Amino acid sequence: MKTDDVVKLYDKYVMTTYKRVPLCFDKASGTKVVDIDGNKYLDFFPGWAVSGTGHCHPMVAASVAKQAKKLMHVSNNYYSVEQALLAKAIIDSSFPGKVFFGNSGAEANEAAVKLARKYGHDKGKYEVITMLKSFHGRTLAMITATGQDKVKKGFEPLPEGFKYVPFGDIEALKNAISDKTIGVMLEPVQCEGGINIASKAYMNALRALCDEKGLVLIFDEVQTGMGRAGKMFAYQNYDITPDVMTLAKALGGGLPIGVCVASAKFQDVLAPGTHASTFGGSPIVCAAGLAVFEAIKKEKLLANTNKMGTYLVKRLKELQKKYAFIKEIRAMALIIGVELKINGEEIYKLCMEEGLLINCTQDTVLRIMPPLNVTKLEIDKAIAILDKVFKKVKS
Ligand SMILES: *Cc1c(COP(=O)(O)O)cnc(C)c1O
Repeated sequence: MKTDDVVKLYDKYVMTTYKRVPLCFDKASGTKVVDIDGNKYLDFFPGWAVSGTGHCHPMVAASVAKQAKKLMHVSNNYYSVEQALLAKAIIDSSFPGKVFFGNSGAEANEAAVKLARKYGHDKGKYEVITMLKSFHGRTLAMITATGQDKVKKGFEPLPEGFKYVPFGDIEALKNAISDKTIGVMLEPVQCEGGINIASKAYMNALRALCDEKGLVLIFDEVQTGMGRAGKMFAYQNYDITPDVMTLAKALGGGLPIGVCVASAKFQDVLAPGTHASTFGGSPIVCAAGLAVFEAIKKEKLLANTNKMGTYLVKRLKELQKKYAFIKEIRAMALIIGVELKINGEEIYKLCMEEGLLINCTQDTVLRIMPPLNVTKLEIDKAIAILDKVFKKVKS
């Protein structure tokens, strides 16, 4: 089959919920992708931040293959070794507490909001405040939690109990709190929202405010977690700890997973029978997650992420000097946004033609998130392609 044939099948049989580009992956390893027509690409946004350890990391692939022959799925009314060990790995690298396993980012956030609501229920509190430009997923509750109108349009009436304030504005948050408010949910770095990074002062004020008002502070680390921020979790670049944290994307190394992590005070709020997920925390997915943790440790990927993040930003700043349409570069380790004064859609497409896969979000922000094991050589290749494309756009 060629890409054209696959596109025809999609046109006939797959719902057109996505604006897809005509590229059909055949195989991939690390940053290297080969499509079914034999074209090669350098992937600097692998799997929409899912393949954080790169495509088909050998340790993840081996762990999944081994587990597939042994035990793939057990119902959650039994126990599994892999789920226990992955829960321990997550808690050991974050804060004391317990985890709930689901299958996606949206599901992890649903669990977090349900936890907050359950916690507030007897006090008559249910409202969760989220941020404008946030992104929390596509279920009905999560499009409501998401602070962007474009994801909600046409799906009204939406569930009650969400309010929005500008990201980074502590006064607005203070003013939005009512006697019904029970929680605040935000991403430490808004990724879909254009790589907007919370300041330390804001995070400190946020923690103090939530403590003062008795609010559950929820961090959505679905995209920022698992090493991409140079620490295992982005919040660890600040001096505070959330009450609840959600993870997904890179945690499964390519397999679907979503986790809600609750700190000790909140770990038993979701009592037996209050929440569930049939596929959640299956042995095969947890075996993948355990291998991701092992790979990050064994290959010292946090150190590499910091080093390569610094290097990539340095190289991007050189391009910024050459091209006046580059407005700003925002980064936390390998979470990188290049804000342009022009629309980035064409740049994204030209990069693809030249063999570099990146992303463009909020129309003007190029999102560059190579895997944690990216090398200097790969960065130099990507920069050369960006330079070539920028030159074309300028002329
Ligand atoms: C991708 C993402 C989600 C949604 O995850 P799904 O697995 O698509 O449900 C939620 N929050 C953030 C920050 C994300 O990046």
